[in-house]
Amino acid sequence: MENHAFDRLFGRHADAATPFLHLPDGSHITHQAFLHRAERFAHVLSGLGLQPGDRVAVQVPKCADALALYAATLQAGLVFLPLNTAYTAPEIGYFLADSGAALFVADPDRAELAEVAGEARAMFETLGPEATGTLPPLAALAPEHFETVARGPGDLAAILYTSGTTGRSKGAMLTGANLTSNAETLMEAWRFTADDVLLHALPIFHTHGLFVATNTTLVAGGSMILLPKFDVEEVLAGLPMATAMMGVPTFYTRLLAEERLTRDLVAHMRLFISGSAPLLAETHRAFTERTGHEILERYGMTELNMATSNPYEGERRPGTVGPPLPGVEAKVCNEAGEELPRGEIGMVEVRGPNVFAGYWGMPDKTAEEKRENGFFITGDLGQMSEDGYLTIVGRGKDLIISGGYNIYPREVEEMLDEAPGVTESAVIGIPHPDLGEVPFAVLAAPGEVETDALAASLEGRLARFKQPRGWAVVEALPRNTMGKVQKAELRARYKDSFQS
Ligand code: ATP
Ligand code: MG
Repeated sequence: MENHAFDRLFGRHADAATPFLHLPDGSHITHQAFLHRAERFAHVLSGLGLQPGDRVAVQVPKCADALALYAATLQAGLVFLPLNTAYTAPEIGYFLADSGAALFVADPDRAELAEVAGEARAMFETLGPEATGTLPPLAALAPEHFETVARGPGDLAAILYTSGTTGRSKGAMLTGANLTSNAETLMEAWRFTADDVLLHALPIFHTHGLFVATNTTLVAGGSMILLPKFDVEEVLAGLPMATAMMGVPTFYTRLLAEERLTRDLVAHMRLFISGSAPLLAETHRAFTERTGHEILERYGMTELNMATSNPYEGERRPGTVGPPLPGVEAKVCNEAGEELPRGEIGMVEVRGPNVFAGYWGMPDKTAEEKRENGFFITGDLGQMSEDGYLTIVGRGKDLIISGGYNIYPREVEEMLDEAPGVTESAVIGIPHPDLGEVPFAVLAAPGEVETDALAASLEGRLARFKQPRGWAVVEALPRNTMGKVQKAELRARYKDSFQS
């Protein structure tokens, strides 16, 4: 039976006796063995009486079997719905109810979640080779062939909740074709082959780790070093056998803090990719200087996987996210959706086979953000260069409007980040009686920072209205699990900080 997403993502290398997952204990699982496990899970899922299109919500630790559950869900014609492992019981309750999940699979450590499962049938499973519990241990699972459930390219394959950086997370509905078109495009754009070994230290409940990293490796028939999380020791130990790494910008800043990150350590590697949050031009430069590698930065989001990428061959321009990927259109527009002249700042809109079907249960929100002509209004402000490289200036919601002037926080942050003693910075708008808002700088620094001297150093380099009118020094900026700075939290914290 044809099942678009399963066949295209998992079916291609079903017979391959080559490694797919390298595990922390030094063992590995072949593509073939992986699919065998997935097939057994699919038996279990279908034995529960779930119907095609039913949502299977999972909140499980990152491990080989969590990915097998992903494969099994697709094979059984169900919709995969991974949940952030950091979510608390009330949050889980919300997502289960919102998605109308039929099944909820969680770790036995979190048995208290049974109370919030509501309509969803809850199963507490220790996933991994030694699996026991309500899901029959793997050894006892039906060994015979599983009859793949038919699903077309337009059928729903996954619901992925957005990171909730700008408000409550929304469930993005992704079809089989959304997933496969992007995986195939990225494989070609980034030259992924069966010889690749991807160092995978990202969470797998988010588009970056699940789709960008895993699907791209899968379609290429390559393998992944599956680390439970970003642990600098484990990453340094894994790099010698990797050919590529994908990370969020903080992975790169943390690696740069280690003297053991040397040119020799990574000379054999072919690719470092960054995304999910802006990679500072400074980090890009420092990484190149230290290792000889130019990080390839790309841009995407839950609603459409990847939209743009710096080229594999050709210029990887620091501070930009490159041109649109093949088959994807990205343009910078005014509010009416008309493309602006090159160089002007406006809203980024994206169209292509990767763009999602809509937000689950939110037809109004979908209609607001997805135009009838198929363009998705990303919420990000960008600027397209003459030669077609996109720069993400910031989120529309983070734009500061002070006395009628637009201030793009990133421009100020890039300057503050270079100041002595400052690790990183976030510039936010705080209420001001006359001007509406004024910029306020939050500096992360291990010690004291002379903010007066820093303020003085901006004179002549940055227009007056862009200069911060208040300062705070903190140990670290608040970030979510994807490494994104929580500006809404900072705005709430410093909202009353303007003193004339
Ligand atoms: P929510 O939509 O719930 O507010 P979110 O937008 O953070 O959360 P994601 O889909 O995880 O949820 O993140 C996508 C966003 O991440 C993009 O819209 C963009 O703002 C940011 N982003 C991703 N890659 C980059 C990049 N290379 N440079 C700058 N920003 C990026
Ligand atoms: Mg978003």
